[in-house]
Amino acid sequence: MKVLAADFGGSHATCAIVDDRTLIASEEIAAVDQETFATMLGRVATTFERLTRRESISFKECKGIALGFAGLVSTKAGRVLSTNSKYEGAPEIDVAEWSRQLFDLPLRIENDARMALLGEVYAGAAQGSTDVVMMTLGTGIGGVAMIEGKLLQGKHSQAGCLGGHIPVLFTGRPCTCGAIGCAESEAAGWSLPLVIAEWPEASQSSLAKYSKVGFKELFSEASAGDQVAAAIRDRCLKIWSATAVGLVHVYDPDIIVIGGGSAAHEAAVAARQAGAERIIMLEKAPEAEYGGNDSHDQKCQSPCNEDLGNVDRAGNCAALPDRREKAAYIQQADHSQ
Ligand SMILES: [Zn+2]
Repeated sequence: MKVLAADFGGSHATCAIVDDRTLIASEEIAAVDQETFATMLGRVATTFERLTRRESISFKECKGIALGFAGLVSTKAGRVLSTNSKYEGAPEIDVAEWSRQLFDLPLRIENDARMALLGEVYAGAAQGSTDVVMMTLGTGIGGVAMIEGKLLQGKHSQAGCLGGHIPVLFTGRPCTCGAIGCAESEAAGWSLPLVIAEWPEASQSSLAKYSKVGFKELFSEASAGDQVAAAIRDRCLKIWSATAVGLVHVYDPDIIVIGGGSAAHEAAVAARQAGAERIIMLEKAPEAEYGGNDSHDQKCQSPCNEDLGNVDRAGNCAALPDRREKAAYIQQADHSQ
């Protein structure tokens, strides 16, 4: 079954033709400053036309359009409810109507993080699971949940999005949500420069040579032996672990999938290097493509070091340590300051 798909992220949109678990073709289009939703939709339409022409696929062969959007979305109404200062005008546009008029195809829209979780369950790291939490490390910390096979939506489309706003430090810094010491305000892309700025001896660290430090630079300098970077990296790992443990207690999942590109990957690698065992973090293998990658060896890529005999095709270990291990890790995180 072929479908057209578009994922609206913060800096770009990715357009694709997908046939079940196979990616037939894709193309990224960069979002310009102050890009409105209407102009981006126009560019997505042009890209769909180009991709289908190139692959000799007609719109009639496609069953519909799937659209992921980085913002609050009502799947029932088929509309964007609100945006986070991106893609102005999105709530005013009836995207289902846009799809019918231009392509004569039905359209389903969903929040991008929930869409990612659905993808992991259907064709990725969480295949076969009905109870899954996905945590995404990036500029913020995203979180979405599926319980008993159903995505949590809630009356206002916000259920399951606790992720980055689990409190981890009551003496911490203000978060964008108005609370204090959320996981996101202590260990996410936007708060990392603030953490570094307040860190003792940060000015003598190799981190000082960067105009802006992201997780890539942090993990790289920590691995190279910089002690300040290593201490901040370890603090991030503890916060992410405490967050994941909190999500386990809230949603009772079988598996947690951690996404977010290099941050998730580096987090797992760094935890292994630090000798951390039985952390419940499960990374999404960055090179794993939907449809599986047979070149992956079947070793657990998460840092739990468990021989559980239950490793999926992306190399993720589909098991969690027992509750006492999780509780022990919460205590460690409480003393991280
Ligand atoms: Zn918050």
